[in-house]
Formats: sequence, C-alpha cells, structure tokens
Amino acid sequence: MSKEENQKRIPRNSCIRCGTCCLKGGPVLHQKDKKILLAGHIRHQHLVTIRKGELALNPVSGNLEPVPQELIKVRGKGKDWTCCFYNKKEASCAIYAHRFIECRLLKCWDTSELMPVIGKNTIIRADIVNSNDPIMRVIETHEQVCSYHEVENLISDLSRGTDKSKALAKLTELVRKDLSIRSYAIAELGLKAEFELFIFGRPLFKVLSDRGLSVRFTQGDIHLNRNPS
Ligand code: SF4
Ligand code: SF4
Repeated sequence: MSKEENQKRIPRNSCIRCGTCCLKGGPVLHQKDKKILLAGHIRHQHLVTIRKGELALNPVSGNLEPVPQELIKVRGKGKDWTCCFYNKKEASCAIYAHRFIECRLLKCWDTSELMPVIGKNTIIRADIVNSNDPIMRVIETHEQVCSYHEVENLISDLSRGTDKSKALAKLTELVRKDLSIRSYAIAELGLKAEFELFIFGRPLFKVLSDRGLSVRFTQGDIHLNRNPS
C-alpha cells in the first residue's frame, strides 16, 4: 500500500504535516493573501495565472473544468505540480508562518471550512499589478487575441471534425500570436522571463500538447498536429 493510501486510512483530527496536500499543487490566492505579497514573503515569480476558460482541477467536483474567472495560483514544480514552497526532503513549507488562506483552512479530515471559500474573493492580475504599468495593456491584448474561449471552440471543431484543417491552422496561428506577445513583452518592455507564467499564464503550445496535439518547432516556425488516437 502506498504512503498516500495508508494515510487516507488513518482517521485523524489534527494535521500530521505529512505534506500530501502540498504535493497536489499550490493554493489559489484570495484577497486576504495580498498582504503576503505586499510584505515580500512571496514574489510574482512564485505565481502562475490560470486564465479565464483554462482547464483546471475543480477541488469541489474533482474534475478538470474551465475556470469561470481568472485565478492566481502558487506555482508548482515537477509533473505533479507540487507547491513550489514545499520541501519534500524536510517535509516542510518554506513560508509556513505566512502561508495562504487555503493552506490554513485545509484540513484533509474535514473540508467544511475550506469548501465555502473555494472560488470566492480570489484575486486577479489587475489586483496586484500597478494599473499604470504598460504590461497591463499587453495582458489585455493577449486576453483578446488568445482567449481560451476561442481555443476551446477550435479544439471542439477539431474533435467534431467539421473542418479540421481550418481549425488546426487557426490554432497554430493562436500559438504564434501567444509566443509573439510574450516575446514582445520580454524584448520591448523588459519583462523578466521568470515573471512570464504570472503575466501570461502557461504558453498555449504547452497547454495544447496536454490536450492531445503535438507541437513541433522547425526552422523558426510552429507545426501543430493531432496525435493519433
Ligand atoms: S492537512 Fe495536509 S499535511 Fe496535514 S495531515 Fe492532511 S494531507 Fe497531511
Ligand atoms: S504554501 Fe506551504 S502549506 Fe501551502 S501548499 Fe505550499 S508548501 Fe503547502
């Protein structure tokens, strides 16, 4: 029996700091968490934006679902998206004294305190980036040009088979635009590469490769294809 399965079987009423919850991904930030950023305990490079309409695990239903509004999450590491503040070797949290509201309310043996706050009073990029910062205009353009609404429509067209080659060509164009906006922000506005996941979320080509499309970069261009099912 795995360590995780064994832990599930142990009835408890207090936290044994096993870290299983931290291994499942970082928390979503809420308005009450802004003070942690303002105090400098975490920085923008520790965050990733989940853009409106992007698929993410809904902790209430347990399903992958498009998020109804933009969310800011603590960045993950590894393929399981273990919270970046979790130290597996020492089974400890690097910011334990300043941890987020979701971390404080999470009790794996009783989710009654956590569930009511899920998806409520969460923050968006505009809450923590200066409104006069020119990057805000680029974020708005990115949302208009590379919306997940459009991405999901095209993925549906691909699976319905109406006009697959047209849908694939349009998705490829979106991937090009997504990369080009990111490059513009880095080259022209001096955006640090470590802030990219917070400012623009995950690159579309990575998202699409998780959705059954293969992405190849050759001779400076991008080629998308459907993986054989
Ligand atoms: S709340 Fe998290 S760290 Fe505490 S016992 Fe449950 S899974 Fe382990
Ligand atoms: S911030 Fe700390 S307590 Fe919260 S998920 Fe990350 S490692 Fe765990």
